[in-house]
Amino acid sequence: MKAIVLGGGVIGVSTAYHLAQAGAEVTVLERQPGVALETSFANAGQVSPGYSTPWAAPGIPLKAIKWLMQRHAPLAWQPDGSLFQWRWMAAMLRNCTAERYGVNKERMTRLAEYSRDRLRQLRLETGIEYEQRTLGTLQVFRTAAQMESARRDTQVLDACGVPYRLMTDRDALPEIEPALAHAAGLVGGLHLPGDETGDCQRFTTQLAELAKAKGVRFRFDTRIASLKTSGDRVTGVQLEGGEVLEADRYILALGCYSRELLQPLGLDLPVYPVKGYSLTVPLVDASRAPRSTVMDETYKVAITRFDQRIRVGGMAELAGFDLRLNPRRRATLEMVLGNLFTGGDIPKAEFWTGLRPMTPDSTPIVGPTRYDNLLLNTGHGTLGWTMAAGSGKLVADLAMGRSTDISIDGLTLGRYAKNSFSPSADLHRASPA
Ligand SMILES: Cc1cc2nc3c(=O)[nH]c(=O)nc-3n(C[C@H](O)[C@H](O)[C@H](O)COP(=O)(O)OP(=O)(O)OC[C@H]3O[C@@H](n4cnc5c(N)ncnc54)[C@H](O)[C@@H]3O)c2cc1C
Repeated sequence: MKAIVLGGGVIGVSTAYHLAQAGAEVTVLERQPGVALETSFANAGQVSPGYSTPWAAPGIPLKAIKWLMQRHAPLAWQPDGSLFQWRWMAAMLRNCTAERYGVNKERMTRLAEYSRDRLRQLRLETGIEYEQRTLGTLQVFRTAAQMESARRDTQVLDACGVPYRLMTDRDALPEIEPALAHAAGLVGGLHLPGDETGDCQRFTTQLAELAKAKGVRFRFDTRIASLKTSGDRVTGVQLEGGEVLEADRYILALGCYSRELLQPLGLDLPVYPVKGYSLTVPLVDASRAPRSTVMDETYKVAITRFDQRIRVGGMAELAGFDLRLNPRRRATLEMVLGNLFTGGDIPKAEFWTGLRPMTPDSTPIVGPTRYDNLLLNTGHGTLGWTMAAGSGKLVADLAMGRSTDISIDGLTLGRYAKNSFSPSADLHRASPA
């Protein structure tokens, strides 16, 4: 079976690796000169099934209004001039009910837990190294209201069998992260011992090498212009310059750029670019640095320890495809880091921005479409690194016609037909699941 994977981020590379492992002849198409050079480049480093939480949650609309007026806010919004931005935000608001939150959290957790297990399996099989740590992650709270909402979240964690420790005594936090003994303003935390951390770009680069050894062909500096179709099949990928490549199956993993390629096919993909920022700071004092990831719930900023670096990532800007670096966001990341950990050399930090491919229900879009031989692996939003190993295996199994290890219920594009993200629900009329 010949497969073409569109996109060489962490999702595309994981898909290609698993396809090759299953015996497919695979080509990956990527416009950059290497893998993981866009959103998968410098994310916050959490592999965090325990923190698989939809953004759309009860209470968020009110919080969002307050955030828009704060200096160090986790959220910012600028009209991008498109109707799509409004439709996406309206769809997100529709997901802010307790019922939708529960449904979405279960879907995300199902895929994320499977992915973390698949990542462990990959390490055993291949010995892959990416500055990984398996010490869990710690979410820290500054208000009683945050503690209360974490308590509610633990019901879903219980239902999904995710281990956790809710810490209502701030003095207990240094048991998990000793350097927090020096931090002020915290009231408690949620420790998720099953979570992991690691450098996504290193992982993707290493996995691409392993994929090459299995015969995967990477075509870099290669821009995809369009998909060619005939009836309910994709017949080829047209590259910029005119060349057309053909395969039996096509797997689209273009992150934020997935939507524009599918529009001419009548598929209305609700994936919006949600901009985030990170700082990568050289480590100078390990005793004043995190051991793993600490997630500051107030600012929605994650601070992760790599071997000799600290990565601080967060913020969400709804502002279209704008990759300019905003110094105000850097100030927020520096403020949160300085408040919790002082073991990094902040003036020597590298500042970066990336666009999260985000769906309105925070759940990725993984699986078949109404085109027989076109599968999607996109829309992983805040958790693409967490979900990469599992999503790659899941889509590879589907493409190979194998049974999948977990259910794809509620993960495919078909879920939007019912709650009509699109005004014309028949766009997805024949899409399965
Ligand atoms: C600040 C920040 C912090 C984050 N922190 C975490 C975290 O801690 N944990 C976590 O799990 N996730 C995190 N994420 C999310 C995670 O990084 C993303 O979900 C993930 O990287 C998405 O991977 P992808 O492969 O879908 O997209 P990408 O990495 O963007 O890959 C898509 C690829 O498609 C290529 N492409 C696009 N269009 C074309 C074209 N026309 N032709 C050829 N190639 C094309 C691009 O060059 C790109 O390489 C974070 C994201 C950000 C921004």
